[in-house]
Amino acid sequence: MPDPDNVKTELLGMDMSALENYLVSIGQAGFRGRQIHKWIYEKNTASFYEMSDLPRELRQRLDGTAVVSIPRVLKQRVSRDGTRKFLMEFEDKKRVETVLIPQSYEKDSRFTLCLSTQVGCPVNCAFCATGRSGYQRSLKDYEIVGEVLSSRRELSKKIKNGPDNLVNHIVYMGMGEPLLNYEAVISSIHRINDHRGINIGQRNITISTAGEVKGIERLAREKLQVTLAISLHATSDELRDQLVPLNRKYPLKSLLQAANYFILETGRRVTFEYVLLDGVNNRHEDAQKLAYLLKPLLANINLIPYNEVEGLPYRKPSRDSAIQFHQWLLNEGLNATLREEHGTDIEAACGQLRAEFKNGNLTKY
Ligand code: SAH
Ligand code: SF4
Repeated sequence: MPDPDNVKTELLGMDMSALENYLVSIGQAGFRGRQIHKWIYEKNTASFYEMSDLPRELRQRLDGTAVVSIPRVLKQRVSRDGTRKFLMEFEDKKRVETVLIPQSYEKDSRFTLCLSTQVGCPVNCAFCATGRSGYQRSLKDYEIVGEVLSSRRELSKKIKNGPDNLVNHIVYMGMGEPLLNYEAVISSIHRINDHRGINIGQRNITISTAGEVKGIERLAREKLQVTLAISLHATSDELRDQLVPLNRKYPLKSLLQAANYFILETGRRVTFEYVLLDGVNNRHEDAQKLAYLLKPLLANINLIPYNEVEGLPYRKPSRDSAIQFHQWLLNEGLNATLREEHGTDIEAACGQLRAEFKNGNLTKY
């Protein structure tokens, strides 16, 4: 049993006033909290010894009583297209993957960061590597924020003297179902959005859900300006029950109603993701049904050609047939895009993430 008196206070995840209060509670001036805030959220610093404007005694004291648990990057892989995949480890040795995607091929490109919210995923979609790798636990809010700081720290080692805001978009599309870890995800959004800290605008943040209806309704009421992406993938309950087991709890009708509610409450358009599985959901009639369901919602549709996963039976459609499906949607007057693929050569693309640990050995790095 850990001695409760010995547990250090976690500072990561605290906002400025919480840090000020903490410093006051240990007999220090409140402004020290503001200094620490800057070190954590602007300079991605975890070590009190590096916080050079704090008095030496305070640094020593904090080192004994508090921690800033920015996750360790155990491995990283860089794709030919500049996508970077990090294997991150938390205090309890649990691991997730976090992916940095350049927004263009330009030298001064900014990056989109794809965050994980759970270790594994309980939803267990039939086509997804994460789902198949089993579920272990949800991440804490500070662990999700830690993925951002840790990735920025790695990036700043590679891109010296780059601008502060190299990472300017966040997508909750890594491992896990964000709306099944609701409080931690919302709290992490507030930290990431805080203009005195990481300062990424809500409109530059997207949450992707497999269709957790209760979570969508709750999110609508938060009145945040984040983008909601719903992973639809099928236009009948029969198929969706097989692909996304959460559909058995929340069938299509209730999901589309929740999307509509979100639109009405927030005034924001919703994006629907649709993974193209060859011979499963990419026929002409699927496109027609998709148009029939989504047109009234004025939705954006993001087509994702399937990234094949070893051991799973689903296949990626040919480039031509993906383009054909896209064209069918455009012909129906829908606002659809065909997603460019990033990082497939390092298995960093959608749905290829898993905690890479087989038989006690790291694999695939
Ligand atoms: N759990 C959330 C967010 C993470 S998955 C969700 O399901 O929405 C992000 C997106 O990648 C989802 O749309 C998911 O369905 C899709 N995806 C999963 N596995 C994939 C694969 N192998 N190829 C392409 N897309 C995949
Ligand atoms: Fe979980 Fe999303 Fe993968 Fe489904 S697609 S198993 S919800 S991570």
